[in-house]
Amino acid sequence: MAVERTIFHVDIDAFFAAAERSINPDLIGKLLIIGGTGGRGVVACASYEVRPYGVRSAMPMSRALRLCPNALVMNSSHGLYGKISKSFMAILRDYTPDVQVMSVDEAYMDMTGTEGLYGSPEKAGQAVKDRVREELKLTASIGIAPSRLVAKIASDERKPDGMFTVQAGDEAAYLAPMPVRKLPGIGPRAAEKLARLGIQTLGQLAVFPEGPLRREMGNQFSRLIERAKGTDNSELSSETKSKSISSETTFHADSTDRAFLDKMVADLSQSVGRRLRRTGKHARSVSLKLRYNDFTTLTRHNTPNVSFDGDARIVEIATALLDATLKQRNVPVRLIGVGVENLSEPAAQLSLLDSAVKDVSTLSSTLDRIRDRFGDDSVTRGPR
Ligand SMILES: [Mg+2]
Repeated sequence: MAVERTIFHVDIDAFFAAAERSINPDLIGKLLIIGGTGGRGVVACASYEVRPYGVRSAMPMSRALRLCPNALVMNSSHGLYGKISKSFMAILRDYTPDVQVMSVDEAYMDMTGTEGLYGSPEKAGQAVKDRVREELKLTASIGIAPSRLVAKIASDERKPDGMFTVQAGDEAAYLAPMPVRKLPGIGPRAAEKLARLGIQTLGQLAVFPEGPLRREMGNQFSRLIERAKGTDNSELSSETKSKSISSETTFHADSTDRAFLDKMVADLSQSVGRRLRRTGKHARSVSLKLRYNDFTTLTRHNTPNVSFDGDARIVEIATALLDATLKQRNVPVRLIGVGVENLSEPAAQLSLLDSAVKDVSTLSSTLDRIRDRFGDDSVTRGPR
């Protein structure tokens, strides 16, 4: 039998609102909503204080303000969230290299076999929570389970500032009383269909005969029966399997400043390079994405002859793509993205010609180790 895995799902509570409060304590306790204030504005994050009024993220701001007229609305400050997010992920990576980032404030950690280092999973979880609180002034909730699926549900259930462990073998019993909507992948429509079959809870779904469910709901839903029992063998770090890795950033203010754009391309290239090296693979192509202030988006690709995994190569190719793209259209830019594509196992033998490439790769790995130990800002290469 396979070793039971220990998966953490770590999720910061009401992230954008908490991030604003971490730099401005006057906002603590206020009826805070983060999101667009314009006519078509949407709630990006509802603080716990406004949730009793029924305010939820993704709701039109006009509706949120009808529900909670005294709310204080603030625009998102993405630069701040990105910065905090980096520090958050760095804390998680201090405990395991197997971190799968799901969004700015949410990640899975594979903590299997780390008891010797950190003690019980709960002790490790508490250590992570303490560091997030002390270093970032934020609270996180953690679900601990043998699978990503159950860990995610457990952290959601215990928000805010919670931690809960579902032991191997207890998954089905833990999920059984929950409404079907708690299962990721079951939206309002699917829940309605299930309700028509008399299925309200995950326990009812778990024992429902597969044939009739498939007939009613279609093939993809037969998988739901297994998931409703808490069965999920998916591995962490889908990055390893994905064919591309990319990173993008939206600027505070649109920019035509070439030095700034070069710096952004270099930063994104290094972050992508680091994630690429973590997969142990090499890439064949680099992509650059530019979104202009009028929201038109251009994406360009370049595929050199030799595969690579070093930062210098990615920066060089992405910068050349930036040159070409700006030549075509030079108006203010609001978003830049860099990606590497066509990932594959590195060639078994490097030819003599490739030894230069290998040196660059070794240097990048060394920088990765320094950054892993001392943080992302400890080493920065120039934009070119
Ligand atoms: Mg969150």
